[in-house]
Amino acid sequence: MAVYHGPKCRQCRREGVKLMLKGERCTTEKCAVERRPFPPGMRQTKRRRSATEYNTQLREKQKIRRIYGVLEKQFSLYFKTASRASGVTGENLLQLLETRLDNVVYRLGFAPSRSAARQLVLHNHFTVSGKKVNIPSYRVKGGDTIEVKDASKSLAIIHSALKSTRETPDWLTVDKVKLAGQVVRIPERGSIPVDVQEQLVVELYSR
Ligand code: SF4
Repeated sequence: MAVYHGPKCRQCRREGVKLMLKGERCTTEKCAVERRPFPPGMRQTKRRRSATEYNTQLREKQKIRRIYGVLEKQFSLYFKTASRASGVTGENLLQLLETRLDNVVYRLGFAPSRSAARQLVLHNHFTVSGKKVNIPSYRVKGGDTIEVKDASKSLAIIHSALKSTRETPDWLTVDKVKLAGQVVRIPERGSIPVDVQEQLVVELYSR
């Protein structure tokens, strides 16, 4: 599956918020949103156009897509799956995105960003419940254990990421010594720490 390879900070500036796509750099004064808080290609003096309802919905969808590093086509497949499942579509959508293996590796603190987590998964550094999995979009289930493979336990990027002060969400547990984590349960909306309005995406796709 293809991924976006353009500048990450440009995506944040486009959405006007910090999407935290670059790990520790995002918490420093080097963050491009802090230094240039206006959209790319626009001079600081120009004001943003007033947003239409459609534009607001579209921007929210792009924001969620960019946070999780998912391309348009894959995102629309996630939406279809979410809308067919029982329950609240917006919550279902976030659950599908949160339970991607690359996101879980990031949430467990084994990678500084979701894109780094994606690379680590692709390069075969993890097992899920004892089996090798190198598919970033792999969906984890409640009870699954995610472990760094023995041969990868000395990787500097993992140890450096584990020093981060990021909190582990309550639906996951992590053992930083054994380099293993567990999915306690599938997260409900309140346990998914992303500041987005998923209902706007539902409204967008209902047009
Ligand atoms: Fe976004 Fe991080 Fe770049 Fe800031 S440093 S603009 S939060 S990717």
